[in-house]
Amino acid sequence: MRFPISLYVSMTWYLFQKSMRKEKRFPLVLMLEPTHRCNLTCAGCGRIREYRDTILEEMTLEACLKAVDEADAPVVTITGGEPLLYSSATELVDSVLARGRHIYFCTNGLLLEELLDRFRPDSHFTWNIHFDGSETVHDRIIGRPGGFRKAFAGLLAAKDKGFRVSTNTTVYRETDLADLEELFTQLTAAGVDGILVAPGFSYEDVTGDVFLTRHEIMHKFEEIRRWGRRFPLISNPIYLDFVAGEHALQCTPWGNPTRNPQGWKSPCYLITDTHYPTYRELMEQTDWNHYVSGEDPRCAQCMVHCGFEPTVVLQMNGKDLLRMVKWNLYV
Ligand code: SF4
Ligand code: SF4
Repeated sequence: MRFPISLYVSMTWYLFQKSMRKEKRFPLVLMLEPTHRCNLTCAGCGRIREYRDTILEEMTLEACLKAVDEADAPVVTITGGEPLLYSSATELVDSVLARGRHIYFCTNGLLLEELLDRFRPDSHFTWNIHFDGSETVHDRIIGRPGGFRKAFAGLLAAKDKGFRVSTNTTVYRETDLADLEELFTQLTAAGVDGILVAPGFSYEDVTGDVFLTRHEIMHKFEEIRRWGRRFPLISNPIYLDFVAGEHALQCTPWGNPTRNPQGWKSPCYLITDTHYPTYRELMEQTDWNHYVSGEDPRCAQCMVHCGFEPTVVLQMNGKDLLRMVKWNLYV
């Protein structure tokens, strides 16, 4: 099973409640960035560049939990920066789990093996480890020889201790599909529960021509989406059809709101016009229609999963639902 059944139950109940209340805009996943500090400086990373002047700041535990309560989303992605460097990482995880939320904890894996004993396996908790290619390619992208081996040792240790583990791979212009196949074969053999694969997205603060245009994304994902039966891909298959160019979707920028030490990032995970002090101000003061329309030039090449996967979930009909159930069961 690609996703735990408890996540399906939580999400279905949440969507039912929202529909009963006739709420129009609500989040599915909170992207929580308690700090932007990181022990790497990856070439394609926008976060450490956009927030370079405030990179040592971190949210208090209370501010993190207030954000979890304000957004009230069933899933919390704890990301950064490297969230294992956050001073209250363990307390944050325990407190979010105590609220019944599902956690995807994104990490580059360098500290995972060392810090694993501070966490306990839970059906609502998944490590999400970043791998951008096979050993040589990954180490080159992250600029750290030995980084792949360290992260992979963390992955094996986490699986050994009974944690759910998924991985996250960004596809860049230079990504070689044969190399990705080699990586996914290795990860599948290691017993990962899920492999998330998504196109890299362009940040104003990242120089160099590493990001794909929509046309290039479609070309690469035409092949990648065929791997769904060989590997435990957890990128939504309807979203993968979109990135392969099979159909169009509008963005749902409020579906995965981002909270970081500067506030609630508006309008989306990818682009920043401003930060609001409260979730309510984010929702009430952002001109959502402008971004949904795709008029903003910064949206032109964007197919990022945190903008478009919520659209898939919110527009799902009975046929799509059946397809999703079969896909989750590898039928
Ligand atoms: S590990 Fe993540 S946060 Fe750190 S530099 Fe790389 S992409 Fe950025
Ligand atoms: S299309 Fe992309 S950049 Fe534009 S609002 Fe949506 S997620 Fe953000």
